[in-house]
Amino acid sequence: MKVEVPATILSRVIKPARYTGQELNAVRKEFAAMDVTVALALPDVYEVGMSNLGLKILYQVINAQEAMLAERVYAPWVDMEREMRAAQLPLYSLESQVPIHAFDVVGFSLQYELSYSNVLNMLDLAGITLLAAERGEAEPLVIGGGPCAFNAEPMADFFDCLIIGEGEEVVLELAALVGRWKKEGRPGGRKELLLQLATLEGVYVPSLYAVSYEADGRVKAITPLSDASKPVVKKRLLADLDAAPVAMTPVVPYIDVVHDRIMLELFRGCTRGCRFCQAGVIYRPVREKRMETLLNQAKQMADATGYNEISLTSLSSADYSCLHPLVSQLQEGLKEQGVSVSLPSLRIDSFSVELANQVQEVRKSSLTFAPEAGTQRMRDVINKGVTEEDLMNAVKAAFAAGWSTVKLYFMIGLPTETDEDVLGIADLAYKVLNAYKEVKGRRGAKVTVSVSSFVPKPHTPFQWVDQHGMAELARKQQLLRDRLYRERSITFNWHDAKTSFMEGVFARGDRRLGKVLYLAWQKGAKFDGWSEYFRYDIWLAALAEAGLTPEFYASRVREMDEVLPWQHLSCGADAAFLKKEYQKAVAAEFTPDCRRGECSACGVCPDLKVKVVDWEDNA
Ligand code: SF4
Repeated sequence: MKVEVPATILSRVIKPARYTGQELNAVRKEFAAMDVTVALALPDVYEVGMSNLGLKILYQVINAQEAMLAERVYAPWVDMEREMRAAQLPLYSLESQVPIHAFDVVGFSLQYELSYSNVLNMLDLAGITLLAAERGEAEPLVIGGGPCAFNAEPMADFFDCLIIGEGEEVVLELAALVGRWKKEGRPGGRKELLLQLATLEGVYVPSLYAVSYEADGRVKAITPLSDASKPVVKKRLLADLDAAPVAMTPVVPYIDVVHDRIMLELFRGCTRGCRFCQAGVIYRPVREKRMETLLNQAKQMADATGYNEISLTSLSSADYSCLHPLVSQLQEGLKEQGVSVSLPSLRIDSFSVELANQVQEVRKSSLTFAPEAGTQRMRDVINKGVTEEDLMNAVKAAFAAGWSTVKLYFMIGLPTETDEDVLGIADLAYKVLNAYKEVKGRRGAKVTVSVSSFVPKPHTPFQWVDQHGMAELARKQQLLRDRLYRERSITFNWHDAKTSFMEGVFARGDRRLGKVLYLAWQKGAKFDGWSEYFRYDIWLAALAEAGLTPEFYASRVREMDEVLPWQHLSCGADAAFLKKEYQKAVAAEFTPDCRRGECSACGVCPDLKVKVVDWEDNA
């Protein structure tokens, strides 16, 4: 059953180690002896896939079960795909090099809308029927998860089922159910299996729902088709993160990957309430781990991997209640092993700069801050909760501590944005530059301004708003370029508006986009998240052929009572909360963080019977 990849092929592709497996900590089990086999897939290249924390955890969770096995598979880069197709090699797993079509379950992590075409391409390379409705009895169950599953509708045609929310527990329930069904001789075939899967909390079976449309294209109704299909599928989550499984022995790659270090997850959730941020809603509430647990896990992971860097990975790691003692004790405890600590995200305050100073004692590369918007009004609209004074204090503290390079992240195209708000970004960049002169008495700072285009996401207070069209975004980018180009100490980077626009189409899309995906894939769409491969013309042609327009999905204001394509998939936050947050956004009113402040009644805690877990008193 093993797929033999000729050395001649590996010698012709770049980075052959992407395809050979055999890394440290890769799990090897006897494939044929397992009750259930799961291929864990990320629809992007190896270096991206190997950096996904969720899949690392699921790999460990499944492989901890004696009769279950999980192996990895990523999207072959275009050179390898060419070779595989020419040699008629099917897509195979990295551990046993078994064809993916021989697994019981193939699970895709859906992190980004522009990776959807790669899902189709990987299924095709694996020889698995693309459309779930046409998949044969002996073919694997194709499942999905990750943030995009919260509006899985554009992918509904291709998935047998999707996991909504955190997968650690439900993936085992799903695998056990598949194992039992296999052992019993597959009673009722795939149809019966799907009915049983639909009864699991957090499992969504798209084929068990019918979607009807109004004449103008809006969704009319989403109707469950069986008793097993719940009217609303609620997300799964772990109430006690302290007791949750961890990727204690992660696979260590031979080649550089995006996050080539230990990833220590301090907590899940972020309740700062930025109104554009989907993660801030779908991962609610905040649940911290205890410091003792983290210290113990960090030590074990360092021992198991030999890595010399540990990254504190959470949505906003600087918010961890016991961060100072944790960092000090990690540094002390891991000193002998030569392991350093890094913080991927900083808050905009001098406390965070002090902390960055503590972890980056020698090398002062650059510090990154994300004010997100250039004026106070705009930051209030998005509920960013930082002032210009906060930013200036933070950058001054950074300059005083020895940094001279600062990166600033912003968005344009936000709801209610005016040209004044856009130009406020340039003003802020100049103020940061001048702050260096104030602190150091001379010029010498370098400021990078990175501007992305806002994409409204489902389950956020901005899920009803229109996204800027390309011409308007280009005009605003030009405004900034004109204001910034004269200053050589400022570098201005902006995100390609076309990719953001297409991301917006699929983020709030409905099932009819499945046809578009299929057509675009047939026309050659793949690796759309990589600018060198994104072909806007293909997507426009596919949309036109399917009789749809991108503007309908991206540029349209939804009525507040419109049936949204993701209405039957719940993250726990109720529509009333999101509506209220939208109204507060328009009025530029602030909603405080519920983590240590008042509950803002988003609905998640009572609905899912969980609560915020915060160890501030221990700090
Ligand atoms: S229910 Fe209240 S405490 Fe819980 S996440 Fe929502 S706002 Fe925060």
